[in-house]
Amino acid sequence: MRLPPIPSFWLPCCLLLAAACGCTEKPVPSTPDPVPAASSPAPTAASAETPDKQATTMRDYNPLTPSEQQVILQKGTERAFTGEYTDNDADGTYICRQCNAPLYESKDKFHSGCGWPSFEDEIAGAIERHTDSTFGMERVEIVCANCKGHLGHVFAGEHLTAKNTRHCVNSVSMRFVPKGEKLPPKIVVDKNAKKQ
Ligand SMILES: [Zn+2]
Repeated sequence: MRLPPIPSFWLPCCLLLAAACGCTEKPVPSTPDPVPAASSPAPTAASAETPDKQATTMRDYNPLTPSEQQVILQKGTERAFTGEYTDNDADGTYICRQCNAPLYESKDKFHSGCGWPSFEDEIAGAIERHTDSTFGMERVEIVCANCKGHLGHVFAGEHLTAKNTRHCVNSVSMRFVPKGEKLPPKIVVDKNAKKQ
């Protein structure tokens, strides 16, 4: 079934939004796993000089903790109001935790009150949309266009911003790179590469 339209006077309806965000899914532990200081494997010699924002070919994506795997690979949902970026207002870029692809800019982030980081727009070409019919709802799942890792869902028609769109994204699916810091190269996995 389709979700009923959410009226513009929805302010107390966090519960409704929470349902829309998928909090009925199997929750993952709220205690974040330690984030590896350098989760990006060293690039190959051939790509060591790859400029920022360009791709580097690797045998594998960044290693993921069990909590990250539950969300990114198993399409889980972190508990509302527990993600590290829900209230992050700093300037910068949100990249894919699994493959480093830039996904969202901080200028497109807004406070929706739903308990997850919310964006009204994505970086062009960074996101793929798929129909998600689980849990008796028809939602639009969003995944990283590069590695297909699960990000969350996108909702339209809530009248929360001028663009009338809310990307509801799990913090654990992203990594925040503050403005001024170098973006790591996007990882493109070469499936034909021999395993080490
Ligand atoms: Zn990715």
